[in-house]
Amino acid sequence: MAGRLEAALAGLNDEQRAAVLHGVGERAAPGGPLLVIAGAGAGKTSTLAHRVAHLLAAGADPQRILLLTFSRRAAQELTRRAGLVAARVLGLAEGSLPALPWAGTFHGVGARLLRDHAAQLGLDPDFTVHDRGDAEDLMGWVRHARGLSQTARRFPLKGTCLAIYSRVVNTRLPLAEVLRQSFPWCAEWQEQLPALFADYVDAKAQQNALDFDDLLLAWATMMEEPGLAAQVSARFDHVLVDEYQDTNRLQDEILRRLKPDGRGVTAVGDDAQAIYGFRGATVRNILDFPAAFDPPARVLMLERNYRSTPPILDAANAVMDHAQERHAKRLWTDRPGAGRPQLVLVPDEAHQATWVADRVLAHREGGLALKRQAVLFRTASHSAALELELVRRNIPFVKFGGLKFLEAAHVKDLLALMRFVHNPRSRLAGFRTVQLIPGVGPATAGRLMDAMQAAADPAAALAAFVPPPMVREAWQDFARAWQALKAGSEGWPQELATAIDWYAPHLERLYEAAPLRLGDLQQLAELARGYASRERFLTELTLDPPDATSDRPGPPLLDEDYLILSTIHSAKGQEWNSVHVLNVVDGCMPADVAQGAHELEEERRLLYVAMTRAREHLHLLVPQRFHVTQQSRFGDRHLYAGRTRFIPDADLVHFDRVTWPPPPPAVPHVPAPPEVLDLRQRLRAAWRTGA
Ligand code: ATP
Ligand code: MG
Repeated sequence: MAGRLEAALAGLNDEQRAAVLHGVGERAAPGGPLLVIAGAGAGKTSTLAHRVAHLLAAGADPQRILLLTFSRRAAQELTRRAGLVAARVLGLAEGSLPALPWAGTFHGVGARLLRDHAAQLGLDPDFTVHDRGDAEDLMGWVRHARGLSQTARRFPLKGTCLAIYSRVVNTRLPLAEVLRQSFPWCAEWQEQLPALFADYVDAKAQQNALDFDDLLLAWATMMEEPGLAAQVSARFDHVLVDEYQDTNRLQDEILRRLKPDGRGVTAVGDDAQAIYGFRGATVRNILDFPAAFDPPARVLMLERNYRSTPPILDAANAVMDHAQERHAKRLWTDRPGAGRPQLVLVPDEAHQATWVADRVLAHREGGLALKRQAVLFRTASHSAALELELVRRNIPFVKFGGLKFLEAAHVKDLLALMRFVHNPRSRLAGFRTVQLIPGVGPATAGRLMDAMQAAADPAAALAAFVPPPMVREAWQDFARAWQALKAGSEGWPQELATAIDWYAPHLERLYEAAPLRLGDLQQLAELARGYASRERFLTELTLDPPDATSDRPGPPLLDEDYLILSTIHSAKGQEWNSVHVLNVVDGCMPADVAQGAHELEEERRLLYVAMTRAREHLHLLVPQRFHVTQQSRFGDRHLYAGRTRFIPDADLVHFDRVTWPPPPPAVPHVPAPPEVLDLRQRLRAAWRTGA
């Protein structure tokens, strides 16, 4: 094995090797805490995979390794890579290694631990996890019930209320401070908000629901109780965390309570890629990590980049050179490749879409599969024009985080039914489900949910419920299906087919294009096979929605070739041979809502993250006309233009500049078009500065 071990390490540089072997003793006893801090593409994630592999090879129990990553996809990929290396070291056939059952996100792992320890926590283990949409709906509901939507017309909207609540929970700062820092325009409601939040918390308890924030909060709270904390900590020998720069206060607390002395803890990350401050993440976690332990953590830096060509790296480094907050590392590479990144000036978003589609096809003709190419953008809605163009040209694509699929009404219906079966107290799920029965409206649905929430045995309450006479037959049909599903005798995932059987006849009555929708549901049933149980399916689907392809919902099949479309935030940690970044303009990057030096710096890092995803080809798109639809209550539309301020004139040397379509040859005496005075923007600016 020694020879194979050496062979597996051979490709690593000295620092990577040190990180892989740190504290790996004879029987993989946990060593002291380790922090690997390095720039993009320096091999942090690969090093983590190698480290896990070496722990396994040294005899660590896969059940006792906790691997925390930023998405479920990242966890699967890391597990796969670790498995491959471990198989090589141990001389096993590929794929014969045990999986890592505890690889996942903080939220996913938290949900599982909460279920495992539910009895000790006084929690019903069948709780439903509310995604952002569910959470907003519930907040809207309590807001309405308090009369705030009618009497206080300027009261923050449900989304804002939820954002404030979430920030208080995640940062653990007092409400007044959160309002002052991040929601100054809501400060006048400081008195009313606590009562609203209390209602919201009560409503979640009544429905046996937890939202995303609760998963972390409940886990952290569980770790405050010494007896429970000891039990949870004792489950794991090794805790490894990727992308540590994007953890929040709660996640940091959880980690420290899991392993107070830091033994067995490995964290990796890059402070220059911290892009989740807007959600309460704090880069202080990674900066303060070494000193958090006694003796302090060992810190290893990786500076050699293996991902990108030198010109791409130069351009990305230049963006960070102007950062207000210092990041000590500067990456270097000896990868071959000389083409400079392109900065492409296009008139508008429609031209941007055609240019990108052209380039994608050209790359493919040059031998680059669609899978090796990605188009990145700031917000999911920014790819709309491009998606149309891709569909028009029959270029298949996958959009990461297939929220669209899960947001389709019929998919939501079916998931509501499954949730209602799993957690009969979920008012949101029950309300939606029973109104699928022909003739049943909100009054009956509300009456049923009141009865079920009040009952000790909700299933019995459903059986005893007396519906209005004219819906009796359809009601009984539903009640039978519900009870059969609840009994769970068919097992997972067959029961999903039973649910579809009940729901399918209603599709035609409820929606157009029923056959297509039925196809989606069958796709969902297909997807369900990938999850071990109903509970894992419902939770993990909510926490990490599956990707959606352009021609059908759900993730692409392995052998298919698809272009990748992704927000920059979801592209974290990944790489492609060719990367297009859309809308690299002021107003988008940085976003026009970014205020203050701190937020602007996060915008700069976002651009850095986008650029450093590219291995060989990087194209930054600058549409001169760019529409922003404000997410604010005013619903403004604005027109912005101009290259991002993060690439000042002095840095243009790093790019090949392209104007497309090429300007027509100069025609004499063309009168200049009258300049458009963007009054709206001026008015807006005036209001901002208080002038
Ligand atoms: P990010 O900050 O974007 O998450 P990272 O630091 O995690 O990046 P990886 O994704 O681990 O970097 O690695 C980037 C690329 O470099 C991958 O393709 C990986 O296979 C390759 N790589 C890493 N280390 C080496 C090495 N020692 N030799 C050759 N290639 C390497
Ligand atoms: Mg990584």
